[in-house]
Amino acid sequence: MTSPLLPTYARADVEFEKGEGAWLVARDGQRYLDFGAGIAVNALGHAHPHLVKALTEQAQKLWHTSNIFRIPEGERLARRLVDATFADHVFFTNSGAEALECAIKMARKYHSACGNPQRFRVVTFEGAFHGRTLATIAAGGQKKYLEGFGPKVEGFDQVPFGDWKALEAVIGPETGAILIEPIQGEGGLRPVPPADLKRLRALCDEKGLLLILDEVQTGVGRTGKLFAHEWAGITPDIMAVAKGIGGGFPMGACLCTQEAGKGMTVGVHGTTFGGNPLAMAVGNAVLDVVLEPGFLEHVRKVGLLLKQRLAELKDRHPHIIAEIRGEGLMLGLKLNVPNTDFVNAARQQNLIVIGAGDNVVRLLPPLIIDEAEIAEGFARLDAAASAMEAEIRGVAQRGAAE
Ligand SMILES: *Cc1c(COP(=O)(O)O)cnc(C)c1O
Repeated sequence: MTSPLLPTYARADVEFEKGEGAWLVARDGQRYLDFGAGIAVNALGHAHPHLVKALTEQAQKLWHTSNIFRIPEGERLARRLVDATFADHVFFTNSGAEALECAIKMARKYHSACGNPQRFRVVTFEGAFHGRTLATIAAGGQKKYLEGFGPKVEGFDQVPFGDWKALEAVIGPETGAILIEPIQGEGGLRPVPPADLKRLRALCDEKGLLLILDEVQTGVGRTGKLFAHEWAGITPDIMAVAKGIGGGFPMGACLCTQEAGKGMTVGVHGTTFGGNPLAMAVGNAVLDVVLEPGFLEHVRKVGLLLKQRLAELKDRHPHIIAEIRGEGLMLGLKLNVPNTDFVNAARQQNLIVIGAGDNVVRLLPPLIIDEAEIAEGFARLDAAASAMEAEIRGVAQRGAAE
């Protein structure tokens, strides 16, 4: 049967009906352990009682008013985000790409407000992913996302990841900002070493550039800090957030310092849906849990446990797994076999994992996952890797017999 949906996704033939914590239940009753969390979105797992309560209570009161009016839930969430971070201001969006669009526009407007409208260019890094709008595919610079969509949006200069010579060479009189993910997500779980983030901060200060961090995937506790840049002890000027911030409700945010946001005055930017009461109620509820004492310690603890188990997995299956990457509960396996095959093998074991670039499989469990579920996930990864080894041996034996 053909689907009426535009066929832009090669969807797995599984239909989930409900979820509970780190588990998903399919229509046929099968239970899956969810190490994907909707691509790092369901930070508190599925059907978290505090989120369900916040959403249903707000749903009975008020969904949407537009940003023509004051939205107290949004002011409260913005205040809490400001209090917990480097930021002075927050702009709420519906997605990561929109948070990035706001960040890029803000950087351009900042230099324009400073009397330097020519400084509109942004430096980005190979392997980056910043979303699928026209500007964010230009920022990401990946050919497969740009091809066929007409002239690339002007103003993005890409350099190889970790190539400081190329970076310094590309910065010119038109450069206004550097945009980077603290850990590349879609690009294959490639972390920026904390010393390099420090060096980027210093370079931006020296050249009068704004540092924009894309924490859409790394943010809201995913790496064991509220935001990943805290590991490096630096702060950005502008930061894009989304995915986990709504725990599954579509929302994002662009955070900035007073200085970086100084061009964003009345009327220069806007959104119909961004920051509506329903989204803000859920965003506040997510933050209630993530900011609870001990929550981030839990993420660090189970993240470390999972990472240790993955090292064991690599030792057990050296022909399948080449390398372990990542931080907290944003972990990846760089594979010696096609990652799509591994994703399928894991699903055969009723474990959801997610592919990424550079032949990596991502493990992004909900942050509420417990030690028993980590052990269960390990057992299923082990079974998936063993099944792949058996398959490879079978193919080799059949080949030898012919
Ligand atoms: C997912 C992601 C985006 C895009 O977010 P959308 O909500 O899909 O628009 C941008 N940057 C990073 C790092 C992401 O992981």
